[in-house]
Amino acid sequence: MNPKILLFLTIIFLCLDTLSDALLGMRMADQDEKTVRIVLECPKKIKIQKSVNGNSLHIWAPKKSPNFSMRNKTKTITSYTHDDSNTVRLHFATTPSIKKDFWILPGKKYPFFRYVIDIFLNHPLVKKVQIPKSPPIRKKRILIDAGHGGRDPGTIGVGKVYEKNVTLKAACLLAKKLKETGRYVPILIRPKDQSMLLSSRLKATKKAAGDLFISLHADSCSDSSVRGLSLYTLSAVASDRQAARLALKENKADLIMGVKLESEIPEVANILIDLTKREKKNLSSKFAQHLLSKLRYRIFLLRKPHRFANFYILKVPGLPSVLIELGYLSHKKEARLLQSTRHLDNICSGIIEAIDTYFKMEIHEPRS
Ligand SMILES: [Zn+2]
Repeated sequence: MNPKILLFLTIIFLCLDTLSDALLGMRMADQDEKTVRIVLECPKKIKIQKSVNGNSLHIWAPKKSPNFSMRNKTKTITSYTHDDSNTVRLHFATTPSIKKDFWILPGKKYPFFRYVIDIFLNHPLVKKVQIPKSPPIRKKRILIDAGHGGRDPGTIGVGKVYEKNVTLKAACLLAKKLKETGRYVPILIRPKDQSMLLSSRLKATKKAAGDLFISLHADSCSDSSVRGLSLYTLSAVASDRQAARLALKENKADLIMGVKLESEIPEVANILIDLTKREKKNLSSKFAQHLLSKLRYRIFLLRKPHRFANFYILKVPGLPSVLIELGYLSHKKEARLLQSTRHLDNICSGIIEAIDTYFKMEIHEPRS
């Protein structure tokens, strides 16, 4: 053999032999929140010593490859040093202890011997982040007042249909359907056929702390051809003579029970000059508009279906309130319709669509 080649091969062999027990590299990664895995790569099984010193782990190998590299992917090893003394020092944020160590032989994927050290962290730094539970969405409370009741039948229509029965049937149906949506808490102000003064209704309504108030009624007229649903919101000045007449009639409901309308409860007395008045009026009108836009394709509406008048029952401060006259019991066909579950169900579906739209679109300040 050419002496030059022999010399070259000898040098290569010596170099390889020199590197045959050198540490090639080191990788660190979190296994879980309490364990860190350290992997040392070597060309063969070598003697590796290790010791824990406070928050540090010292690893000693016979020698390191000139290309020795380290890769730290942990959150707990804050820094590391390796110098010519063949010692690697890993500094932890918390006290480490050696859980286990073992060798893995070279395989297809990794051509090196791997020495694995699993470190147990005595005080895990990485804690599970508790995601705060978002507060449950408060369901809107819909107050439903079935007009009249008990000794007060309300309007007596064609075929002796009583307004109090129509309003109770509609109110119960609306409450049932609202509950079924899962989005609302319906509250019936008059849940059964019972006499109830307007002032008692108002107090019950105020106490129920609702988000929306709907009073259900049915009207009558000397002209038996008049028909259609209409809506009323509160106003000191009536929008027209019929609205003023209706408010007067509905406000007189207590007279039938021998009780004069109680002088207005103190917090109600000043409603028309109250600061909440404007907002309430605004929101009540908006809800009425949503009702009209949803109901106009479902049922027959009265001409100029949104009117204003001074209804006592709509006076709970800060509570958007609408009175719905479901139709005319003096109209033969409408009196029949208002007794049919199908017709009332159709109206209730429209009311719920309007409630959905109202809460989606309007800005609602929490009530004080
Ligand atoms: Zn009525």
